Amino acid sequence: MREAPRPSSVSPALAGLLCRCPACGKGRLFKGFLSIAPRCDACGEDLSTLEQGDGPAVFIILILGFIVTAGALIVEVKLAPPFWVHAVIWPPIILGGSLGMLRPLKGLMAAMHYRHRRGHGEG
Ligand SMILES: [Zn+2]
Repeated sequence: MREAPRPSSVSPALAGLLCRCPACGKGRLFKGFLSIAPRCDACGEDLSTLEQGDGPAVFIILILGFIVTAGALIVEVKLAPPFWVHAVIWPPIILGGSLGMLRPLKGLMAAMHYRHRRGHGEG
């Protein structure tokens, strides 16, 4: 069995949000847009067993759904613009927000999985 690397000064949560390896905070976590790399290219940590599920999508739906719904209501109540203004404003925000949040949130969830699976209480 391989010796586990020493915990780095980078928190797993920060490393996850930055899409970095949760063990060392240096190597890339993803090998594609959303596929987790089998191994860290910096420290060699096995990343293949990290959570690959759809959990981040649920959080994005909840977070972005709240932001867009609240924003649309505020714009409608305060400005009462024609409908096409909503049709122009919100789709790019939904698309950009969804795609922009996916990798950091998936990285964060993978890092949390790594941290709690390993039982690291410090740091
Ligand atoms: Zn690493």
